[in-house]
Amino acid sequence: MNNMDGYALFEEKTGYHFKDPSLLKKALTHSSYANESRSDPDDYYERLEFLGDAVLELCVSDHLYKSLPGKREGYMTKLRASLVCEPTLAMCASLLDLKDLILLGKGEEQTGGRNRESIISDVFEAVIGAMYLDGGIEAARRFIEKYVLEDMYHKIEFVDSKTNLQEYVQEKGYVLSYELISENGPAHNREYVMGTVVNDERIATGKGRSKKNAEQEAAYKTLLILRNREKD
Ligand code: MN
Repeated sequence: MNNMDGYALFEEKTGYHFKDPSLLKKALTHSSYANESRSDPDDYYERLEFLGDAVLELCVSDHLYKSLPGKREGYMTKLRASLVCEPTLAMCASLLDLKDLILLGKGEEQTGGRNRESIISDVFEAVIGAMYLDGGIEAARRFIEKYVLEDMYHKIEFVDSKTNLQEYVQEKGYVLSYELISENGPAHNREYVMGTVVNDERIATGKGRSKKNAEQEAAYKTLLILRNREKD
């Protein structure tokens, strides 16, 4: 897939069409790619990320304030931090296969930049910045509602799943461990499969680009399974 098809697909999925497509391209351009030709800060995503970060924070705060009447500031602050943190945003970006569209320099590509959560979440913020400039706050807000705020409790639970599972097994007095089931692919594009073992029983497996991500998925599934068993 070349990038033009990728942008079209992105617009189709999000339902948002850029009046100025160069803004979307900029949001998806890493400085390493821009630097290979020239290095003008207006050629790569960092300035848009700066803007998108603030737009995201405002829209998420606005949503939490209005949808959670009676909740304390401290609770909303924690919830907001969980929603705008790197792992959650990288996960939101994965709903759009955003990482496949990033323009990266060769060096950054070889060292696995495309799968780095920090880059993916920065690009996600930059896309929000681009939408804000192109379509105003309403365009950005609709995008954020669809990809960040929808299903927000599940997203947070997924991101925190290893901690949540740890707390769960501790409470029950279970013994939990993770095991590596397989690892495949070249160094910059490895895929790991990790499994959970609870009291000597293999419960679930998860896939990911890092062991940590694979464990996260496995932990999430394990929590669902163990809680379900409790209901029976
Ligand atoms: Mn950032």
